[in-house]
Amino acid sequence: MKKNGNDGTKALVLLSGGQDSTTCLFWAKKKFGHVETLSFDYGQRHRIELKSAKKIARLAGAGNTAIKIKEFEALKHNALLDKKINLKGRDSVNKKLPASFVPGRNILFLTVAAAFAYTRGIKDIVIGVSQVDYSGYPDCRAEFIRAMEKTLNLGMECPVKIHTPLIKLDKKQTVQLAIKLGAMEMMAFTHTCYEGKKPGCGRCPACVLRKKGFDEAGVKDPAVEGN
Ligand code: ZN
Repeated sequence: MKKNGNDGTKALVLLSGGQDSTTCLFWAKKKFGHVETLSFDYGQRHRIELKSAKKIARLAGAGNTAIKIKEFEALKHNALLDKKINLKGRDSVNKKLPASFVPGRNILFLTVAAAFAYTRGIKDIVIGVSQVDYSGYPDCRAEFIRAMEKTLNLGMECPVKIHTPLIKLDKKQTVQLAIKLGAMEMMAFTHTCYEGKKPGCGRCPACVLRKKGFDEAGVKDPAVEGN
């Protein structure tokens, strides 16, 4: 693949409306000629994420499709889908994982994304997972992504490639990449907070991790009012 090629190839970016997926969108826009985005309405705590994704995609000149996956709502086992569960706690089944772990989420997201990409003749999928600051989610590890890529290739008889530009980056490096890609202005519209607050609550695990990244990179977060 050519660097900054805009070589006519197409890519599909999984866009949650957060900082990481927005950085991936800008990364993809530099790499590919045509970029589409896909967002998932899976019953997450706050609709604001989906609104942010739509707005960011529009401003970046990329199409956005939101797909409903309601099956997760029936789980009611984790803090992202059930407001009664403490976000700072541990997973009720596997204490090594945080309470925000949604089992099978990226497996299902990547499967649906690959099926969507297949119908549009897209062979490159971009997802903003990191195995450095990944909150302990097993479906953010490189090992999982490679296995998933192989599974999708075998199951769909189509050479899908899953790109993970943030996989080896910590939050500081992700902010630095966003600066390099010219994505910082767009960061004002990204949404990270698990509490659905805008600007973020500053206390939930997602806000704390985001603040750490901006602080360590030595830049102000455009999404935080008063900066
Ligand atoms: Zn927060």
